[in-house]
Amino acid sequence: MSDPVTNPINGRCLCGSVRFSVTGPLSGIVICHCSMCRRASGGAYGTFFVARRAQVTWTGETHLTSYESSPGLIRSFCGQCGSAATGANLATPDDTIILAANMLDVSVALPVIAVEYTGDKVPWTEHEKSTPHFKGAFPGWSNLKP
Ligand SMILES: [Zn+2]
Ligand SMILES: [Zn+2]
Repeated sequence: MSDPVTNPINGRCLCGSVRFSVTGPLSGIVICHCSMCRRASGGAYGTFFVARRAQVTWTGETHLTSYESSPGLIRSFCGQCGSAATGANLATPDDTIILAANMLDVSVALPVIAVEYTGDKVPWTEHEKSTPHFKGAFPGWSNLKP
């Protein structure tokens, strides 16, 4: 099977301080609904993929801040803007690394291969088909009150 993703693939945090570039094979994306991944990602759920550690080049790595979210598992995020940069990786690294798909450039079209911890999904990940959608910003922001 040919790789549908053109290498290298690139990712960056919101502020651009931290960037990664990956050459070589990548896993598909795993979506995780567990509360730790949701909180760490800053979104409704975490999105991750696996690369070979030796094929990942970081820029601005010194801006990464780490947090041991479970014993022996380290998550990294940009200390400037808070973007999740990795999933929960072994504190003693092996030859692979779990990267956060939220960092990826929009053009990277990795397939989603699994969705886990679906029992922990927050109710607001689902919405009615009738909920208004906008290509740009929601025009109601300036008038939005509780
Ligand atoms: Zn940043
Ligand atoms: Zn999770």
